[in-house]
Parts: sequence; C-alpha cells; structure tokens
Amino acid sequence: MSLSCFDPRFGERMLSVDEALAVLGGSLAKLAATRPTQRVPLAQAVGHALAEPVISPLDVPAQTNAAMDGIALAHASLAAGALDEGDRCQLRVIGSSLAGHPWTGRALAPGEALRITTGAALPAGADSVVMQEQLDYFTPDASPDSMLDADSQAGDAETAEQVVIDGVSSVRAGQNVRQAGEDIARGSDVISAGQWLSPAAIGVLASLGLAELTVHRPLRVAIFSTGDEVTAPGEPLPAGGIYDANRFSLTAALHAEGVEVLDLGILRDQREALSIALRDAAARADLVITSGGVSVGEADHVRSALEACGQLALWRIAMRPGRPLAFGVLAAEEGRQVPFFGLPGNPVATMVTYLQFVLPALRMLGGLGPLSPAPADHPGTLACWQSPRLQMVAGETLRSRPERVDYHRGRVTLDDQGRQVVTTTGRQGSGILTSMLAAQCLIEIPAGCASLQTGDPVMVQWLGTRGLS
Ligand code: AMP
Ligand code: MG
Repeated sequence: MSLSCFDPRFGERMLSVDEALAVLGGSLAKLAATRPTQRVPLAQAVGHALAEPVISPLDVPAQTNAAMDGIALAHASLAAGALDEGDRCQLRVIGSSLAGHPWTGRALAPGEALRITTGAALPAGADSVVMQEQLDYFTPDASPDSMLDADSQAGDAETAEQVVIDGVSSVRAGQNVRQAGEDIARGSDVISAGQWLSPAAIGVLASLGLAELTVHRPLRVAIFSTGDEVTAPGEPLPAGGIYDANRFSLTAALHAEGVEVLDLGILRDQREALSIALRDAAARADLVITSGGVSVGEADHVRSALEACGQLALWRIAMRPGRPLAFGVLAAEEGRQVPFFGLPGNPVATMVTYLQFVLPALRMLGGLGPLSPAPADHPGTLACWQSPRLQMVAGETLRSRPERVDYHRGRVTLDDQGRQVVTTTGRQGSGILTSMLAAQCLIEIPAGCASLQTGDPVMVQWLGTRGLS
C-alpha cells in the first residue's frame, strides 16, 4: 500500500476494511519496533508477549526415563529368559531406579532387569519397560510374590530376586520409554519472539528451568468519552443525557487484553478541552482512544483539536456498524509519536471498530507476532493481528449491502449433523448494545455479498469465552 494513512484522498471515498487495516499496519509497524522490554519472573509472565526467542539450554526430558511403573530391561533378554510354559519369561532383578533416585550401579547384563518407577532414569543396558500389571516377583526358595518390595532402595547391591513377565509376545522394543530430548532437544528453538505467553508456554519455559523472561512492557492506553450528553454512571441522568457505556466496555476489553488503562473521563464537545486532554493523554500513554465526536457534523471538534497536537485522518469505512473512524498520531515529548483512534460513539459501533482496528493494533504494538499469515497483496496488514475466523453455516437469510462489510452479532447452535449454525441475536441497530451482550461471535458478511441464504457457509469472528476476543 503506497498511500500514507494521512493521504487526503482517503477522506474523499469510502475505504474498505482491508485497505484501512493495510494502511494502519504500515503506520504502526515503525512504532511497534521501538517499544521497551522488561524482565519478569516466570510466574508473572502469562499474557505478556515474549521479547526474545528462547533456545533450549537442555534436553527435555533431561534423561531417557520410564513412562510406566514396572521393570526396565533389554528387549533382547526376553527371548533368552523364555520359560517353557505359556507366553512368559523370567529375569533376575538386580535393583531399582526410582524417580529422583536413579540406579547408580552397573549396566544391565543379558537376563537382568531393574525395578523402575514412572519418570525414573533408564539404566544403561535397558531399552524397554514392561508395566507392573504383567509382572510377578519372587525370591528363590520363597513363594511367588506379586507385591513390590517396598524396602527396595536405589543402588542396592545385586539381589537374587526374580521377575516373571506374562504376555512376552506383546512387548515391543523401546516401549514405555521416553527418550532424552524427545519433547525439546538442547539447542532447538522453543518459542519465538512475539509469542503470546499462554499457560502452556509458561509450562514449557518452566520445564527448561527458566526463572525470568524478557517480555514487551504492557501498553498503557489513555481513554476518554466525548459528548455533551454523555453522563458518568452514578450521576443523575439529566434530560437528554445518556450514560457512558463506551468508556466502560472499552476499559473492560483493554483490561482483558492485559493493557494498563488511564481513564481520562468524559470530555465535553469543546475544542479547547479536547486539545488539552489529547496533549495530556499523549504525554502519559502509548496509545489514545476516544469514542464519539467523529461523525459528520461533530467531527470538527476532534479534527481541529487533533490538528493542534498531531496529524489526523478521518475515514469513512465501508462497514456496518462503524462507518466513521478517526486515526491520528499525536506528538509527545522528544519526538515520541502516540497513535490515536477516534471510534464512533454508537456503543455497538464502538465495540465493533475496537475489535476490527484497535485490538489488532494493540497486539501489534504490544510486540505480538502476527496471528495469521499476511495476504500477498497486503503484507504487514493489521488484519494479521485480528482474531481468527471460523467457518460456520448460516441458520437464516442474512442481508447486507454490497460494497460494505456487515458485522451481525451472532449465536451458535448445533444442527442434527453436528454443524455449527449461526443466527443473529435479533435487532442489529448500532445502538442496541444488548446485541453484543447476547453475541458469541460477529457474523462477517463480506463486501460484494448482498445476502446469504440458510445453509450457506459463513465466516464468523469468535468473540472468545470472555465475550471479546
Ligand atoms: P457521536 O459519534 O458522538 O455522534 O455519537 C453517536 C451516538 O452514540 C449518539 O447517540 C451518542 O449519544 C452515543 N454515544 C456517544 N458516546 C457514547 C458513550 N460514551 N456511551 C454511550 N453512548 C454514546
Ligand atoms: Mg457525540
């Protein structure tokens, strides 16, 4: 995309969602590269973006070990010790290897076995483990005894104890053994920079013995609402007033994303107040979000306020809800640039534009790598940081207007063939915030598609278990 995001030509025509994502990606990439990192204890790293690749300092598991309780043996010993009757063989038990207390004696010789517990190191000379359920132990001159000898200690000297294995023909060479390094080999790439540190990632990094990680510092985002009618919860609602939903839905969404929120309250539709607030926000935050005041007629406040402290682009985006969107860059101290998103005021439009544009921007700026591959025509587009799409089946006729993307709020059921069928939550006005409350996903009807019929495949953006992906 050769156009800059501030190209005036964007103001003259509708931008497609994809175009907007592409120019945003291009503008934000430079800022993402310069964000600071910090060291955090492993237990506090979940939800952060890893800032450095992790190369394994060791093999995991560190030694070849048993995956079952039983005996360790060389597979070749089974034939040598075969008994005349049944599918059985007999071996001599020379000691034990317990988890945390490995066998320190000599290597197993042919015809010998070692008691072993799950996770205990395999002794030299053994390649397989036979599980406890197939074993009978006995000591010559005593009756067969299937009980594990509780007094057996690691490093015992040789005993005369014998073990009889039942079902020998089912024993495979190498069975019930975890090879050293089979999960992670020493020197291999384990996690790349930009990975979101999930609980599984924390577990894997713990298994390498790492106590601290270098992560990207969480973003600090300043947020305020605009509008003379917008009233803070807890205050009496004046005539013509409306309670401030957007600052709270956005703050909640930002918290869920691990972002630090700087709540700057509600600003009146007044240029001076907006300019002061924007300057203050830029000085204290990595990104600024407002809602309201970007639709035609009102836009002048935000525009003139922003032009006083940075650069602004006002876009009309071919999407519903959420057509008007302002993007800008505020100038802060020492040449620092702070991106600004002015979201539309209608509460559903606020949340939908947050999901399409702000959330991917937060992920990119916060140091996360792309979540999906970039299309060839838009490398680096912010679309790669959007929440993944799933394909479902339309459960009703869904209408749209060609040339714009519609995001219907949807709920999912299973049909009798087990397919995921999605229907809308009901009324879809951009002020019907309860449609977001009911929604599990956004049904995405692409530009160029006027309607979808029942049974048609349809893409959805899953909103996640927290209600906002
Ligand atoms: P605007 O984009 O400022 O023209 O606002 C569009 C609609 O959204 C108007 O009906 C506003 O009253 C409403 N609105 C604006 N800001 C908020 C807010 N913070 N919470 C709830 N509704 C809002
Ligand atoms: Mg307004």
